[in-house]
Amino acid sequence: MFRGPVIAWGGGGCLNAAAPSPLQRLDVLRWGRLTSVAIRAAPAAQRNRLSLGEGSCRRRCSGGTPEVGTKWIKPSGQETGIQIYNSLSRSKEPLILGNASVVTWYSCGPTVYDHAHLGHAYSYVRFDIIRRVMTKMFGKEVVMVMGITDIDDKIIKRANEMDISPETLARFYEEDFKQDMSALKVLPPTIYMRVTENVPQVISFIQQLVANGHGYATSQGNVYFDVRSRGDRYGKLTNIYPDAQEEYVLSDKRHTKDFALWKAAKPQEICWDSPWGKGRPGWHIECSTISSLVFGGHLDIHTGGIDLAFPHHENEIAQCEAYHQCEQWGNYFLHSGHLHVKGSKKMSKSLKNYITVKDFLKEFSPDQFRMFCLRSKYSSGVEYSDDTMNDAKNILHIIHSFISSANAYMKGQLNCDTIREDVLWDKLALTKKTVEAACADDFDTPRAIRAILDLIHYGNRQLKTVTKENRSPRSAVVFGAILSYMVEFFNTVGITLAESQVPAEHKHSALLSSVIDELVSFRIKVRSFALAVPEAAGSMSAESADFSEEEKQQQKAERRQQLQERMPLLQACDRLRQDLAIYGINIKDRSTTSTWELGKINNKLEKH
Ligand SMILES: [Zn+2]
Repeated sequence: MFRGPVIAWGGGGCLNAAAPSPLQRLDVLRWGRLTSVAIRAAPAAQRNRLSLGEGSCRRRCSGGTPEVGTKWIKPSGQETGIQIYNSLSRSKEPLILGNASVVTWYSCGPTVYDHAHLGHAYSYVRFDIIRRVMTKMFGKEVVMVMGITDIDDKIIKRANEMDISPETLARFYEEDFKQDMSALKVLPPTIYMRVTENVPQVISFIQQLVANGHGYATSQGNVYFDVRSRGDRYGKLTNIYPDAQEEYVLSDKRHTKDFALWKAAKPQEICWDSPWGKGRPGWHIECSTISSLVFGGHLDIHTGGIDLAFPHHENEIAQCEAYHQCEQWGNYFLHSGHLHVKGSKKMSKSLKNYITVKDFLKEFSPDQFRMFCLRSKYSSGVEYSDDTMNDAKNILHIIHSFISSANAYMKGQLNCDTIREDVLWDKLALTKKTVEAACADDFDTPRAIRAILDLIHYGNRQLKTVTKENRSPRSAVVFGAILSYMVEFFNTVGITLAESQVPAEHKHSALLSSVIDELVSFRIKVRSFALAVPEAAGSMSAESADFSEEEKQQQKAERRQQLQERMPLLQACDRLRQDLAIYGINIKDRSTTSTWELGKINNKLEKH
């Protein structure tokens, strides 16, 4: 049973528990994973639990409030002047970095089995804005790593349905995701890392967890994380703990909250060899491994949608802290809110109320979406509706029309009354201060946008045209300064106000063509080698007579064996041909050579 005296972890001192929050429900979705989880402020009696860790404090806190192991440890390092809402402490904290000028940042990436929808886009755009603000406004170098989940139940299921390999499906949707992000002007991470390219690292990470006493293998070839081995420290992010009522489990886990580190392969499933038999990584272990590979035992910022907080981030924390044997692995956890569709439901694949990024961009521009995002706090849920999108469009219209008036005035095309330059200079200075203060206050972009709209309001008041000739000195510079500031600010958050925007060229047809040429020519060589098995003696004409029956039989047997040995090469060539056909690249085998042509992309992929 998971009950017992409350014991604090680390440091030996009792820590005060955060005030219990009311029962909230959190729908957990991760690209189609839907789980309903109750985050509870458990009654004191329930929250009492036994610490399994050594050296823990074994006394109750005075005052009757039991403590839990959720205390955030303020990092030591350089203050940045930025306040950030940290899900770990459930309050705003100063952002302190180990290295004053560098932010290490891990972002959970997509599970690539389908097109991204606007709910995903919302989260990635929100964090893109924060990253740009940190870089351009506060001068930090952001080193961002994003893990791509390219092996997973959903990928396997979808690939089976479509009769293509999981790798092909994953590569297609990974590329599709990157194109969507690029279309939304989301900067790519410093590096993407695929799970399938780091399986040996995942295995050794799991081995270390088992060696540290936090994981166990079962006779069925699964490896689980032993949640109870973490004592009070499990649940530090979300306050969700192993529960006594959930003790009874049907699977081979010891406890229902234990989660898979390694999953034994089902028949015919893609798998890797491991000390526990054939299988593949569990969901959470991939992020812990990838982040640790790049950043080691410490991480400044970890981000993802709020739906990932439990179980994903909670489990990532458990794994990393158990692996690195440290008290705090990630210092700041930031979560973006849900994108709701009208009627308060969040946008999700499973609710079938989603709009793909591609469909959205047929109607709206990426800048309109960014303005929609800027109008609310990144951590709050926001409603996607005609009204909220119209609001974003109108604000961009107000900004553009001010820019056009100010431009006209600067060029001498507007005849205005005497401009109150002093008012405008003051207002510009105040706006800069307000915007920077808002951005430093947990990236409060709605406040920053309001300040800019206020500046525009004052600017427009000065730009009232008059009919009578005005001979007073002109004030072009102050308007120039306002415009320059606005362009810089919007450029910082990823909105382009400059007049001529050349759309990025996505089609690199010449390059693509050369790559396919290379690939097909390589395949021809492999295929020719596989087919070039010497004829059997019996089928050779004149010389065959010189061979005895026994020699002929032996040659036949050798030929059969050679064919057998080279068969995997031919199968691989066939598979490549089928897989490329999905992308509309049709290879035609003509005897020992092959040609290729571009056709239509398989509508199985386009339709979804
Ligand atoms: Zn993750």
